[in-house]
Amino acid sequence: MEVLKGKKCDSCGFYMLEPSFCCPNCGSESLSEYTFQGLGSVYTFTVVHVGFGHLANRTPYILAIVELKEGLKIITIIEDLEITKVQIGLPVKFKRYEEGTGPIFMAV
Ligand SMILES: [Zn+2]
Repeated sequence: MEVLKGKKCDSCGFYMLEPSFCCPNCGSESLSEYTFQGLGSVYTFTVVHVGFGHLANRTPYILAIVELKEGLKIITIIEDLEITKVQIGLPVKFKRYEEGTGPIFMAV
């Protein structure tokens, strides 16, 4: 089972998913590795019908902003869910990290 890894600021507790050299919230360079719980809910979403590049064959797919339990909002693709079933507030969990695309989530 893959885990969702990121960093946490030692000074202010801000979470980040992208590789960072300093905290975007307070500027501190003191960051620790952090493994997210991988749980969250759909904050907002859109259904993509026309994909680009390597995503072209994936349509239709759900592109969502997921708010993690830690409070960080991240852009993800939600798989294993009918596009008519997605809704704001739906609980989701991390499924895997896809190179070139980013984190993939699925319904809980
Ligand atoms: Zn900070």
